[in-house]
Amino acid sequence: MQPGVYIIGAGPGDPELLTVKAQRIIAAADLVIWADSLVHPGVAALARPGAHVYASSGLTLEAVTALMVEAVGRGEVVARVHSGDPAIYGAIDEQMALLDAAGVRYEIVPGVSSAFAAAAALQAELTRPGVAQTVVFTRLAQRTPGPDAAALRRLGGPDVTLVLFLSITQAGQVTRELLAAGYGPETPTAVVYRATWEEEKILRCTLGELPEQVRQAGISRQALILVGEALAPRQGAGERSRLYHPAHTHLFRQGAES
Ligand code: SAH
Repeated sequence: MQPGVYIIGAGPGDPELLTVKAQRIIAAADLVIWADSLVHPGVAALARPGAHVYASSGLTLEAVTALMVEAVGRGEVVARVHSGDPAIYGAIDEQMALLDAAGVRYEIVPGVSSAFAAAAALQAELTRPGVAQTVVFTRLAQRTPGPDAAALRRLGGPDVTLVLFLSITQAGQVTRELLAAGYGPETPTAVVYRATWEEEKILRCTLGELPEQVRQAGISRQALILVGEALAPRQGAGERSRLYHPAHTHLFRQGAES
């Protein structure tokens, strides 16, 4: 394996959701720096005996970068392990800027985002045919400047499935903003806490009930809020997609009648 930094998406929790590539790099790395607030300890446990393993929660960006740059200077392999997929709220952009400045080579290994782990836990298709064909990943603005309330209004809509990261402590505001944007209080809503972890919890409620449900369940971190008609319970066979319809032919399947 080439020396350098591998920016790895470790998936939502369950170590079995690592990609084969992520697992191979973590097991071979000389230095493993993992986001211990969200990555399952079972992932860090894959590091080989003798590897240097650091939890990143106690380190600044500068400290993490210094460790990585020094290791690559020694010709080592570095696994920088992020939760879910690193492209979604992974704070990797600033990290790559510093690695660029230091002239260090890096590669990104994608992972399973918690958005998809949550959809799996809910047994939901986020793009349910005839109901929702657009998925929006967003968050309420907090410390990091982000979309304000007006933006949340603009992003939503009747045929949109909203997936809200980093917003569980503001469930009340989520409900207020979306109601103000014209969402009905009955809009199907779900919360998935620690998707794929041993302590995973699922709440299904309406948008109006969301703040109280979250409060009662005592969920204050590591959870996604999903809002939209695609989260409604399935009622028999709904509208179906054309893809697997017998009358729909395409290159790989001839029509039933042919
Ligand atoms: N890159 C990650 C997101 C990092 S931001 C990804 O693709 O999943 C951190 C936020 O992600 C948390 O506040 C929470 O909203 C969400 N999150 C991360 N892991 C989660 C999990 N296992 N279950 C539910 N939400 C999770």
